[in-house]
Amino acid sequence: KPQPVVAANWKCNGTVAALTELLAVFNDAKVDHDVQCVVAPAFVHFGLVQAQLKNTKFAISAQNCIAKSGAFTGEVSIALLKDLGLKWVILGHSERRQYYGETNDVVASKVHACVGAGLIVIACIGETLKEREDGRTAAVVIGQLAAIAKTIRVNDWEQVVVAYEPVWAIGTGKVATPEQAQEVHHIIRQWMASNVGAEVASKLRILYGGSVTAANADTLYRCADINGFLVGGASLKPEFTKIIAATK
Ligand code: 13P
Repeated sequence: KPQPVVAANWKCNGTVAALTELLAVFNDAKVDHDVQCVVAPAFVHFGLVQAQLKNTKFAISAQNCIAKSGAFTGEVSIALLKDLGLKWVILGHSERRQYYGETNDVVASKVHACVGAGLIVIACIGETLKEREDGRTAAVVIGQLAAIAKTIRVNDWEQVVVAYEPVWAIGTGKVATPEQAQEVHHIIRQWMASNVGAEVASKLRILYGGSVTAANADTLYRCADINGFLVGGASLKPEFTKIIAATK
């Protein structure tokens, strides 16, 4: 398997006090295997995380960004992230798609801009419950992936991590079964092999996200095509270090 990635998506959560405590736990975590850990705090907490996160296994990520700086009130651009020394960004999270109107094309153009600027992108894809029930899971997920693939070059995939997050599993406690997750991860890797290249496909890190906890991470990680996790709720707890350990 390629080097795993375990990413904490804190979403719009956290207080200075609580995150300070949590970062101390992350700093103390003994991570002795080859893994890339990532913390994605809200923009307002970047300074706090940069000052307090000492564990060298971790990188800091944004949860979103826009391509260009300028008169875009309320937004944060690639240049602003890079100026802070940030290298990672999550793009196309289902909450961005659902609540902020980010279409496949918007997400794809953000991925294009970010990889062009040298950032590493965690590109999120995943179907809703309705889409799954209608038997459209593969079509939806591949549609999201293909939109991204269209805008970047083969070499750019070195800077992309894919996160498969079924929308029905996010924040619901309804984790995908290992079989359900593996099935879609395999479809993603197969599509990549056929449409981008066999080597890119085999090296691509495909993360699972959606109600991942310390209790289910071990079993999920045993699936052949699962290369790590994108974690919401459990990433705000000391438990996150156990999810990292599950990728050993
Ligand atoms: P939960 O782990 O809270 O289900 O969230 C998953 C997620 O959306 C991570 O990006």
